[in-house]
Order: sequence, then structure tokens, then C-alpha cells
Amino acid sequence: MSDCIFCKIINNEIPCEKIYEDDKVISFKDISPAAPVHILIIPKKHITSINEMSEEHIELIGHIFVVAKMLAKQLGISENGYRIVNNCGEQAGQTVKHVHFHMLGGRNLNWPPG
Ligand code: 5GP
Ligand code: ZN
Repeated sequence: MSDCIFCKIINNEIPCEKIYEDDKVISFKDISPAAPVHILIIPKKHITSINEMSEEHIELIGHIFVVAKMLAKQLGISENGYRIVNNCGEQAGQTVKHVHFHMLGGRNLNWPPG
């Protein structure tokens, strides 16, 4: 999608601190980190939000979580714990309309979130 900031990152039109990439997903550091470790894992295919996901995305969703687990270990947060967050829609605070999963760790995380 031409006016999507994350599609631009995928297409190397906007730089990012890339952590991981394969044929289905990329992961990079959040530009405004909310924790010592704060990365985003996103599908390369433009999907606006969880609301636009269906049966055809089941494998992709599973893949995202397997990659997340692998990156948590790589980033040293597996043992102490981490949180994977998806904000879907206005009231959840979704600002980028390309589905993405935040992975946060490296400090105590409050629950429930504000
Ligand atoms: P949301 O609020 O939609 O769940 O999360 C969007 C996230 O993307 C925010 O945490 C924000 O800091 C991050 N973000 C927005 N624009 C950029 C960018 O150009 N580069 C990177 N690395 N992160 C971005
Ligand atoms: Zn996009």
C-alpha cells in the first residue's frame, strides 16, 4: 500500500533498525520504545488490522508467534518474561493501519495496561 508507513519500511523506502526478516514477516525496533526491548513484528503483506484477518491468515499468525518466541530468546527476554500486544482499532490506540505485534520486555510490565 503506497501511503502506508510500514509498507514503506518493508520496501526499504524508510529506514528501520531491522531485527529479523524472512519471506513472510519483518521485525524492527519501535521508533518510540516503551520498554528496554520494544520491537514490532509485522507481516510483509498489507493487512489493516486483526479485523481484516481470516482463515487464510492462520498460518501467518502462527508464524508470527513462532518468530516472536525466537526473537525473545535472541533479545534475552525469554526467561524474565515479555508481552506481545496488538492494538486493533481506534479505542485500542492503533495508530498505524498495517497490522503489527508489539513485543515488550526488559522491565516489569504493569497489568492491566492503562
Ligand atoms: P500502534 O499504536 O499502532 O499499536 O503502534 C504503532 C507503533 O509504531 C508505535 O509504537 C510507534 O512508535 C511505531 N512507529 C510509528 N512509525 C514508526 C516508524 O517510522 N518507524 C518505527 N520503527 N516505528 C514506528
Ligand atoms: Zn502496509
